[in-house]
Amino acid sequence: MEALVIDDSRAVRMLVGRILRDLGFHVSEAGHGREGLETLRANPEIRLVLVDWNMPVMDGLQFIQEVRKHRAWDAVRIVMVTTETESERVEQAISAGANEYVMKPFTPEVLVAKLSLLEAFED
Ligand SMILES: [Mg+2]
Repeated sequence: MEALVIDDSRAVRMLVGRILRDLGFHVSEAGHGREGLETLRANPEIRLVLVDWNMPVMDGLQFIQEVRKHRAWDAVRIVMVTTETESERVEQAISAGANEYVMKPFTPEVLVAKLSLLEAFED
């Protein structure tokens, strides 16, 4: 199973990446939304994306809006992982097309619970 972690923090990419690898995912990483789009384009096997909100070049919300313009990516599950905790922000991300929302800081258990809601393990 292929997953993509998009975050401008290398430390967060490593942390999230380790959790996903422990769950059996093969993990790609990107440092901002535009790089994330390029990675998605290059790897059609990616079915799960964990994306930060606040990043340079292209932020997480713009990334989600771009992905949801393309029907080829309808099956891609997107989890927004962010410090943005206001309910309006959560609603904004979900209405843009995020499937789940995880607030930083999070425990591995929280992330695993959210992923199981998405049935991200089945493929
Ligand atoms: Mg960030």
